[in-house]
Amino acid sequence: MLLIKLRLYIFQLLEKVLSLFSYRVCKKCKSKIQEKYLFICKDCIRAQSAWINLKSFQDFDSKLKIYFLFRYSDKLIRKLILDLKNNQAELAYFWGLALSEFLIYLFNSKINRNIYISYVPISTEKFNTRRYNQAELIAKYFYKFLRKRKFKQEIKLVENLFYRIKNTEPLYKLNSEERRNELSKAFELNPKYIPLIKNISEKRENIILIIDDISTTGNTLVKLSELITAIDFPQERILGFSCTGRNFN
Ligand SMILES: [Zn+2]
Repeated sequence: MLLIKLRLYIFQLLEKVLSLFSYRVCKKCKSKIQEKYLFICKDCIRAQSAWINLKSFQDFDSKLKIYFLFRYSDKLIRKLILDLKNNQAELAYFWGLALSEFLIYLFNSKINRNIYISYVPISTEKFNTRRYNQAELIAKYFYKFLRKRKFKQEIKLVENLFYRIKNTEPLYKLNSEERRNELSKAFELNPKYIPLIKNISEKRENIILIIDDISTTGNTLVKLSELITAIDFPQERILGFSCTGRNFN
């Protein structure tokens, strides 16, 4: 983790220096990008963002709203998200910033809710080989970039809200029945947050986001949301927030 931190820090320094002398070109529309950390310009982020209600693409009986920024079928996007998983931790800056732009866009530039940010957990096994949880890194930068905008509302990062207690088979290989079985005992809520969740469930303006990198069917996000609704947090105030969505057109 120390090495990853160092790498992220160096990337941040490089971006600072480079932004003084040069600019990046949007990988989609080739226009100039002045901001640091962006590989795709803000206009393209807005234009390509898609959101769907889970019900419309899955047979899962859940009302959880899941928002996707990009379609996984897009070759460039797929590369940017897979590279993040395969050792390019610094791409978390880009994804965190892109998701924060997407959220601000969804809220019509006015964040009028208190946002509690959580993320999909990784198994210990995977963590030991990869040395980081990509969803956690995205959530951290998402949080940082949102905080920089200085909205009046509270924005909090809830670290380790969920645990993965069982390593699951890659879900895209399974049919929907198998997926549900595979996921049914995979996650647990961190008990130290139960008082917080109960406390924030009372006010309408508090919402919980669950950040994910790749959502295939939304089943993981649904399972995680159920852990919070089980302690009476209203489902309509939970949003799945994913960089890419895989099984939808
Ligand atoms: Zn562009």
